[in-house]
Amino acid sequence: MEVCTRRCMPEERRMQSKDLPKHYDPKQTENKWYQFWLDEKFFHADANSKKETFSMVIPPPNVTDVLHVGHALNNTLQDILIRWKRMQGYETEWLPGTDHAGIATQVILEKKLVKEGSSREKLGREKFVQLAWEWKKKNGNAILNQLKKIGCSCDWDRTRFTMDEGLSEAVLEVFVHLYNKGLIYRGKRIINWCPRCQTSLSDDETEREEKDGHLWFIKYKLKGSDEYITVATTRPETMLGDTGVAVNPKDKRFEKLVGKSAILPILDRELLIIADDYVDPEFGTGMVKVTPAHDPNDFDMGVRHKLEKINVMNPDGTMNENAGKFAGMDRYACREALVAELKKKKFLEKIEAYKVAVALCYRCGTEIEPYLSEQWFVRMEPLAQPAIEAVKSGKVRFYPERWTKTYMHWMENIRDWCISRQLWWGHRIPVWYCQDCKEIMVSKTAPSECGKCKSKNLKQDEDVLDTWFSSWLWPFSTFGWPKKTPELERFYPTRALFTASEIIFLWVARMVMAGYEFMGKEPFSDVYIHGTVRDDHGIKMSKSLGNGIDPLEIIDEYGADALRTTMMLVTPEGADTLIAKKTFEVGQHFANKLWNVSKFVMGNLPDGITPEVEATVGLSLQKLEDRWILSRLHRTINDVTSFMDNYRFNSALKTLYDFIWHDFCDWYVEMIKQRLNLPEGENDKATAVQIAHLVLNHILRLLHPFAPFVTEEIWQHLYKPDRQNHDTSLLTAKWPVSASEMIDEKLEDTLKRVQEVVTSIRNIRSEMNVPPVKKADVLIRVDNPDLVQVLEDNREHISILGKVEKLQIGRKIAKPDHSASAVIREAEIFIPLEGLIDLEQERKRLDKEIQRINQLLEKINKKLSNEDFLRRAPKEIIQKEKAKRDEYSRMIEKLIQHSEEILGW
Ligand SMILES: [Zn+2]
Ligand SMILES: [Zn+2]
Repeated sequence: MEVCTRRCMPEERRMQSKDLPKHYDPKQTENKWYQFWLDEKFFHADANSKKETFSMVIPPPNVTDVLHVGHALNNTLQDILIRWKRMQGYETEWLPGTDHAGIATQVILEKKLVKEGSSREKLGREKFVQLAWEWKKKNGNAILNQLKKIGCSCDWDRTRFTMDEGLSEAVLEVFVHLYNKGLIYRGKRIINWCPRCQTSLSDDETEREEKDGHLWFIKYKLKGSDEYITVATTRPETMLGDTGVAVNPKDKRFEKLVGKSAILPILDRELLIIADDYVDPEFGTGMVKVTPAHDPNDFDMGVRHKLEKINVMNPDGTMNENAGKFAGMDRYACREALVAELKKKKFLEKIEAYKVAVALCYRCGTEIEPYLSEQWFVRMEPLAQPAIEAVKSGKVRFYPERWTKTYMHWMENIRDWCISRQLWWGHRIPVWYCQDCKEIMVSKTAPSECGKCKSKNLKQDEDVLDTWFSSWLWPFSTFGWPKKTPELERFYPTRALFTASEIIFLWVARMVMAGYEFMGKEPFSDVYIHGTVRDDHGIKMSKSLGNGIDPLEIIDEYGADALRTTMMLVTPEGADTLIAKKTFEVGQHFANKLWNVSKFVMGNLPDGITPEVEATVGLSLQKLEDRWILSRLHRTINDVTSFMDNYRFNSALKTLYDFIWHDFCDWYVEMIKQRLNLPEGENDKATAVQIAHLVLNHILRLLHPFAPFVTEEIWQHLYKPDRQNHDTSLLTAKWPVSASEMIDEKLEDTLKRVQEVVTSIRNIRSEMNVPPVKKADVLIRVDNPDLVQVLEDNREHISILGKVEKLQIGRKIAKPDHSASAVIREAEIFIPLEGLIDLEQERKRLDKEIQRINQLLEKINKKLSNEDFLRRAPKEIIQKEKAKRDEYSRMIEKLIQHSEEILGW
């Protein structure tokens, strides 16, 4: 029989609603509700549903990743958005997955093999790749499981991996398509080479660093003369590969030398002196050596002037046979030996200190060597055009807006993308070479014979594709592309993408390009760029500095909601998050505050309440505080929703926090406590209960995206929903809608007046050291007759909340002797102190306090008049001391005022 079980068991329900445990314990809560949400398939999106769509794809973490605060921030933001959209009634898809992370994974495995006394080479390609798959199966999902601890409501049924079958198919499709279109080519170019990882890297995979280096001035003899010219270089070892010397064509000093030859010291090679616009006459001597095989700009000059390219290095960073007697030496050892020899033979003119910009491998930190090698490239310029248009026209928008400039600058100066990597773990390049006639075949499947000479002697390219070559397809490959699936039809384009600024080029820009090239549409419309998580000194968290925060440790200690809300509360939009471990107490206290007020409200609720509450009751309410809290609630709903619409999560949660903590807990609940203690039916007690429930119900809905666990726990205790019902979970409850007619500006101001009076009374009491149990007489002199009425109407609230014995409100009130006072808008407040505190003792206490602070002030004044200190101390320290001095002066002023009031002035 279908009956509402709630109404049938009022006694039990009442007991249950009161059984909210004394303290909130995240450990008893989080796993339980997460499993429940999973079991109910709440995170899974139906591609055939009739609802409007809201979809996102996760920035896939690397399979090698262990959850750090950066992930926690990134994924909390996404989860807040998707939970909010789900509550707004959208069919929400948040697709999760991982990236195979070519270099990162290979580096881990190589290290492991070395430890075991083996190596990648010893194992061979096939076995190594097999090992990598085994490693991935065993460890690759760790990060996804950690995301579940944070509460991420991803559609786990659709979890993808950049090397799974479907995505690999997409990669091949794209390679063949671009090759056939003439956008993929093979070429000998200078690329970034990591001698340790022994692979090429794209520009964006290197980190630029400025360091102290030198400028070596080396003398080259002019051919057939005893004269010398001098060139300056920051990398002397590369001179062994010099094939020219260049000057600027406008540089009058060297006009006569162009076309002549110089002799390379030590190797005695003849170098042509050329004129090229690239040369900066201001750098060094205005004459530079040209090394086409070891510098990208020299490479270009070499092409322009048909100079020879001589590679002097091995792939591992040692010198090769072209380096003459330096062959076999490491590049740095060679530099030292070469400079010593130049000095000995008097070719070294001088050495100057010089700041050099070096590029480092983003995986291992080894200094990058610009290196000449055969690689595959994507011609980017044609792909960039629609991606530039998309941002110009606003189809793709950045939040905060300033990142548009960064994106545009890169796009308008885009360079070809080197996509081949000398690794084994990744998508192998689908190119086969005929060993007999050198024909090149590009195909999704291995060809059985050469298309030209029918030879069966074919060899596949040894290299794999850059990891980003699969992740730039992520927004559509994950939904089944190149197949036309219902998911692709339904969930592409996605709406929002959350990421850090470091990968705007590596990933965001390339996804936009791929989206237009292969889907004809932008992959997402909103790009939210969040900041970096730093420690409370503003220093980026890192393993080596040991200043990192482990999100799992935070969850263990404070709870996942505390992790989430704290990060949101301390992160202004688009700025960096500065956080210390202790900061997470903020979120923990917030959860506890919510817990306690829920417990209080629930203790007063009648039987049989349901989650469907009407939020627009109240226009006819009698009590000021009832109408006021509803006005505040609707204003909060309105503000939070509009902040969320603009990705301003920090402002949204702050607004909500203030409403819950101050408006609801500090004021409304305190104001209705008296009414709740009355017998049923008196002084509109039922309304107070009803409104308190209504507000709590809405608070839980509004807070759920930010703090999903504690809100669900309270919701379940509150309503004990039977599982057949649609209100099974807060997760699927409706997001509140604000009713503008409920917002009453004037009413809110009226109550603010009452709050000002109460706050002021409380301040005086605390400053004058009035014992908390003692009630005080209060006199309020008011200038404005309307305010008299407002305060009279709220006499009871003021008396109770301000602990007032006798309250006088009026226009003609004189200040009593021995009384403390305060001034607020249009009114003055007096509290007679006689009988309230021991005047004599209080005066003595104040005198002592004045003396104590005076001494502190003197010390600081001495310090601040010390010339030596002022000269040596850092500016911030001096500023701090000055601020302290001002604060002490203010305190003394205030204490003197109190002391005078006691004396009866
Ligand atoms: Zn490296
Ligand atoms: Zn052939």
